[in-house]
Amino acid sequence: MMHCEHCKQTIKALLLEGDFGADPLWCGHCHTNLELEQLPLDDALLNELTTWMCNFGEWIDLETDSFIEGMEHLAQNHDVQGEDLAKKVASALAVPVKFTPYL
Ligand SMILES: [Zn+2]
Repeated sequence: MMHCEHCKQTIKALLLEGDFGADPLWCGHCHTNLELEQLPLDDALLNELTTWMCNFGEWIDLETDSFIEGMEHLAQNHDVQGEDLAKKVASALAVPVKFTPYL
């Protein structure tokens, strides 16, 4: 059983969404950001999620706070990977995972 430390509920659904400085999984009940280490994920999936998380926003130039050239392509790729990861996490943890795409 996975529990959310914030709402104290058994986690019955998750959200997958990229954001700066946050792990990519969120409680489906209270939308609290969950730490990946708290979840019973295997190393391979953990690595994929971490890589995906680190690539979030690679289409934004943080110095000028503007989109870099070709951002649609990068963000779209990232969204496709996110969709795929949501399915993998759902199957690994046996809970529904709703993916929120960037675009
Ligand atoms: Zn919660």
